[in-house]
Amino acid sequence: MFERVAVIALDGLPYSLLSRWLKQNRLPFLAGLAGKLNFKEILSEQPPVSSVAWASFMTGLPPEQHGILGFTYRDPQSMDWYVPKGDFITAPLLWEKLSRQGRRVFAMNVPMTWPPRPVNGMTVCGFVGNDLDSGTWPSAFGQELKNRGYIIDADVALARKNRSAFLAHLHEVLDRRLEAAQDYFKREDWDFFMLHIMETDRLQHFFWDEIQDESNPWHAAVFEIYQKIDRFLARLIGGLAQSTGLVMLSDHGFTGLKAEVYLNRWLWEKNWLRFTKPIPQSLHDLHPQSRAYALYPGRIYINRKDRERSGSVAPGPGFEKLLHEIARELTALRHPLSGEKIIKKVLLTEEAYPARDIRPEVRLHLPDLLAVAEPGYDLKGQLWSTSLLDKTIHTGMHTFDDAFLLTNLNSGPIRSIRDVHDCILTAFVV
Ligand SMILES: [Zn+2]
Repeated sequence: MFERVAVIALDGLPYSLLSRWLKQNRLPFLAGLAGKLNFKEILSEQPPVSSVAWASFMTGLPPEQHGILGFTYRDPQSMDWYVPKGDFITAPLLWEKLSRQGRRVFAMNVPMTWPPRPVNGMTVCGFVGNDLDSGTWPSAFGQELKNRGYIIDADVALARKNRSAFLAHLHEVLDRRLEAAQDYFKREDWDFFMLHIMETDRLQHFFWDEIQDESNPWHAAVFEIYQKIDRFLARLIGGLAQSTGLVMLSDHGFTGLKAEVYLNRWLWEKNWLRFTKPIPQSLHDLHPQSRAYALYPGRIYINRKDRERSGSVAPGPGFEKLLHEIARELTALRHPLSGEKIIKKVLLTEEAYPARDIRPEVRLHLPDLLAVAEPGYDLKGQLWSTSLLDKTIHTGMHTFDDAFLLTNLNSGPIRSIRDVHDCILTAFVV
């Protein structure tokens, strides 16, 4: 049992990669910790995107119960795309529960925490919130962070324009975050402290090959991000008392990107998707005869008469047949050149989301099929693409397995990021 708990989140850092670096002693502080504490692989959520996984961490619930099922949603009536925010999660968050127990909390940059909720302590939001004026509790904390040049998230658009400028920018964002975290860690009388570092994920999307290949001329400059984090952690938690619980974790793994796969292009080629314009711009351009469409990543929706505004598929045997037909053909999809399988499996709604008590407003967003890709294939949601497969500036992508947990808490029962929630809640001395 612990008097205080500190959590450090390294977004997207894979267990396999971290293990390799620790064995090679390339991150000496973390290598020392891993030798003493419990270090294991954990699983993400399906689909393995940060908004879904961190919502599971914060609530201890599966996606169908916390309500965050992906990065984008569509309103089946207006067919508008939008990004769900933290207020779509109606369950209490970890730091709200701890606040109610009278504990003082501090949470910095955790995804899906905009708009901020009242707590006994301080929070600043993370991705997809990006505004210090509206992103902190209490609001005066936002002004303090602004004064010190705090940046919630890096500008990823820069990676497409200038890679060295993007790397320098990532260092700057990380420096500001680490400085602020260290100050509040010392200054605040916290019982629960959490720092989320997004820069690892941002880096891995654009520099995966350079991270893997030690002979690459970029490798040293890119690896410096991880070394900086290792040195920071040595200063921050190197001298922590035995009475402090420590949890370090990532929310998903990472792997090299073989190709981005445009599922809507595939549905169009199979005649299940039609548009009212030669080049559709949004779901408003869906032809009423369309039978299915996809959202990122791998979420396939049937254009249902009982849900979508211009639905074409009635409930019943026709609907069931269509589901199985799409699932069967998608599972058979192969890379045209290598012949490699692209889709590992396709889950039906009840397989992907087995919980019973699902809010009606969440049920509207449950995909009818969830395609799970083989590692290396990223199932994109763009409506229009001139080809089924493409390689873009991204070189890395998320995986469901291979997230990590490093902790002095009892991690025996933990299998996935969802389980870490209860493990923290029950770690405190009563
Ligand atoms: Zn990512």
